[in-house]
Order: sequence, then structure tokens, then C-alpha cells
Amino acid sequence: MVLKILKYPDPILSERGAPVTEFDDELKKLIADMFETAYASQGIGLAAPQVGVSKRITVIDLSLGKDPEQRLVLINPEILTSEGKQYEEEGCLSFPEIHEKVSRAFRVRIRAQDEKGEWFEMDGEELLSRCFQHEIDHLDGVLFIFRMSALKRSLTQRRIRKLQREGEW
Ligand SMILES: [Zn+2]
Repeated sequence: MVLKILKYPDPILSERGAPVTEFDDELKKLIADMFETAYASQGIGLAAPQVGVSKRITVIDLSLGKDPEQRLVLINPEILTSEGKQYEEEGCLSFPEIHEKVSRAFRVRIRAQDEKGEWFEMDGEELLSRCFQHEIDHLDGVLFIFRMSALKRSLTQRRIRKLQREGEW
């Protein structure tokens, strides 16, 4: 089922998600729906708060559904180490049409649980690293506009207010 994606400034997007403690069928259904929702919007990552569920769950698939081996489910994820820097364009399904450069670590090592509750560690570089950082930020209620420079953030917020006035947001 394709879920409704909340747009900025919905207050749920700014909340810290609660840890997941039950690894049950309800969680599996939510994860399946989150992948379907991400694919329907051509998104490489989606965090549970974006579909109105304030929990520490995110799904990532850099192949946009083309390669099942690239499907990643991160539950209760945390960044263990980060190295280097990159400054690349990002978008977010909660900010349709907005693409801006954001500063991120080049490489991160993360720890997370899978949908069965098993802990694993994984490294990501470049795009995957950006995706890990962007999605884990969502679980802390941090949106990518708050990773932009102050100038870019205010320009982006002004653009969103204009779209809201025109009824296009
Ligand atoms: Zn996002």
C-alpha cells in the first residue's frame, strides 16, 4: 500500500522517533508499505516519520526497486564513526522539487537492527553515506534544510512559503 508522505512543516517531521521494540508482522507490513511508497515517488530512502509513524525505522534502496539485494532496512540505526566530507545535492520526499547542496561526511559506519531485530554493522560511502545520514537525521527530527547554509535555508523556506501561498505545496 502506498502511504501518504507528510510534507514540511508537518510537526511529526520534527519529532524524535521512538525506538522499535516489537519485531512483529505489523512492523513487516509497515516496511513493505514504506518501500512501495518510496518507489512510487522515485525516492532512494524514506523514514517512518515521513509517513506519520514517529518510530526509528528507515528504508533505503539506491536501485529504486530494480535490485532486491540493495534493499536496506535500518531499525534503531546509529552512526558509529564518520570520516571525510562531501558537498552534494540532496532532495527529500517531504520537500518536493527542492534540491540543494548539503555538507555531509564522506564515509560512515552504522549499526542497526534488521526487520527480525538482528543487529548488523555496515559502511557507506558517497551516495549511500549521504543517504544514511539524511535518513538517520529524520529519526532525530532533523530535516535537510537544517543542514544547509543559513542563506540557502532562508531562500528555500521563502520559496516554500511562496508555493504554499500559490496552493502548490
Ligand atoms: Zn528526507
